[in-house]
Amino acid sequence: MFEFISIEHYHALLQKETITCEQAVHFYLQQIDKNKYLNVFIEVFEEEALERAKELDLKRKSGATPKKLHGVVIAIKDVICYKNHQVSAASDILKGFISLYSATAVERLLEEDAIIIGRTNCDEFAMGSTNENSAYGKVLNAKDRTRTPGGSSGGSAVAIQANFCMLSLGSDTGGSVRQPADFCGIAGLKPSYGKISRHGLIAYASSFDQIGIFGKNISDISKVLDVISGPDEFDSTVSHKKTETGFVPLKEKKKFRFAYFPEALDHPSLDTEISATIKNFIKELEEDGNIVSPFSFELLDYIVPAYYVLTTAEASSNLSRYDGIRFGHRTSKPGIDIDELYKQSRTEGFGKEVKRRIMLGSFVLSAGYYDAYYTRALKVRRLLVEKINEVLTQFDFIIIPTAPTTAFKLGEKTKDPVSMYLADIYTVLANLTGIPAVSIPLFQHSNGMPFGLQIMTKQYQEALLLQIVDYLMNKHAKS
Ligand code: GLN
Repeated sequence: MFEFISIEHYHALLQKETITCEQAVHFYLQQIDKNKYLNVFIEVFEEEALERAKELDLKRKSGATPKKLHGVVIAIKDVICYKNHQVSAASDILKGFISLYSATAVERLLEEDAIIIGRTNCDEFAMGSTNENSAYGKVLNAKDRTRTPGGSSGGSAVAIQANFCMLSLGSDTGGSVRQPADFCGIAGLKPSYGKISRHGLIAYASSFDQIGIFGKNISDISKVLDVISGPDEFDSTVSHKKTETGFVPLKEKKKFRFAYFPEALDHPSLDTEISATIKNFIKELEEDGNIVSPFSFELLDYIVPAYYVLTTAEASSNLSRYDGIRFGHRTSKPGIDIDELYKQSRTEGFGKEVKRRIMLGSFVLSAGYYDAYYTRALKVRRLLVEKINEVLTQFDFIIIPTAPTTAFKLGEKTKDPVSMYLADIYTVLANLTGIPAVSIPLFQHSNGMPFGLQIMTKQYQEALLLQIVDYLMNKHAKS
């Protein structure tokens, strides 16, 4: 049986001819087929992935130097465009739509000889925290089928958790990579805003959206980040700062300054076992010689409201293009005028949560309420950026939980959208302020489910962030 440990290890196996790319793809296709009930993929690019694997095997055997992601099998969330392949944002409104171009991230993966194995299920237009808002049905958590994998990138998370590919891409607007990573016991990176081009990523809230990476280990995540990040003529918000230059593990002895927010660890919504475990972890960091200090963060309860005002406002504007004329499903109802056609097409095409957010966003942007909601939320965002800058001039990293609980039971949150929104309390901060964050899988709850915590740092400090995360993961594994 093929066991994937890391890209480096896989490349060594290929060189020794212990395995071929074709065999690796075969293995994953079998895994996917055996576990269809998890509902991870909306579409598997079976024949194409095998074909590409065979080509890569020939290329390698002919003596060509393998590229950085030679034969690496990757799944992409169904909000990322891949030329001549369908992309639907898990929505009926885009069913059957074929991408006219590839996202920059996908193009760069392919240039480095990665193999795209399929597109993964997610919440419709990446709106949700459980993967239950998909037009293609819910995804199940492979660790416990009565639970959700989290969302919105639940399919991409389970694809790693259940061993369906080596790495996967998701998108993270308010936690959609980190929270499902946490619920599934794997690592998930949300890079800084402006690190990876959003060209070809279906927009939810453009000033928050980032492509994120799921993987089993940090050096692999770092390799993929290295390949897909960096300036792009199609997205002017991408930073021109120098990108990664390969992953170097941290030397044992280096000590850092960590801040934690007491308000976050003592928040009434946080599971007491998670709180106690993270507090204990903080103590261990201190015993290890690091400086670990509390930093008061009174703004915590304003984070979720600000996030939902701003993201729904942006979503209502971004999703206006799906009107049955420019993009998306067009109603077949006869004898209606143009206004009715827009209305009917959107009524038929969008799901309940997406409609709720479009209405909320239109409301907060409406003339009478703009200042009361939208302008205020922008002010909160500004205050948050200032606060985070203050914290990160005094400290190297912030430690914060990823989610208040372990994976929700299926159906647990669907009746009460506000309670689902409130569970985003720990993740949306990084998107509101543009900083990078990683959810690290570290612990197991007494209910049997995994959970971890997040480490955040200054914008564009991914190299340092990934080093410390790798160090903490390895140290924990040894303890
Ligand atoms: N759960 C959050 C939301 O529903 C985050 C979604 C995301 O990051 N795409 O908006």
